[in-house]
Amino acid sequence: MEYRIGHGYDVHAIAEGLPMWLGGVQIPSATGFVAHSDGDVAVHALCDALLGAAGLGDIGLHFPDSSAEFKGISSLILLERVMEMLSAAGWKVANADITIALQAPKLRPHIDAMRAALAPVLGVGVNAVNVKATTTERLGFVGRGEGCEVWAVALLCK
Ligand code: MG
Repeated sequence: MEYRIGHGYDVHAIAEGLPMWLGGVQIPSATGFVAHSDGDVAVHALCDALLGAAGLGDIGLHFPDSSAEFKGISSLILLERVMEMLSAAGWKVANADITIALQAPKLRPHIDAMRAALAPVLGVGVNAVNVKATTTERLGFVGRGEGCEVWAVALLCK
């Protein structure tokens, strides 16, 4: 068995009146993420972790935000395309772990829905997709409610 690990990181700014998509789930919120796509910063970090593990570059390389094709696109479609690239190279996902830093709203009630949304796209059970959420204790740009920061790690095998 061959294994590869990858890491992903992404940040999006927060603004009033935009939808808040995280981990493939729309979170009820008066604020959302500024983005060319749907702004799902958690899926973007996950895509980068997967692409990193496979040695396939990063999300900006494959889905440039200068392209009209990706304007407002669901990030789950981007994740599906990443999975197609991985499958073509013979890789399967062993597991993924995501940490979301967001001051508000509280994400705890939405964690299970995120895992359920991501697992079938990754081709794994929900136990192989972990999602964690934290505030930054009101420190920094996350703590001031200016942005959301996400880190993801993924392990591939073949
Ligand atoms: Mg992004």
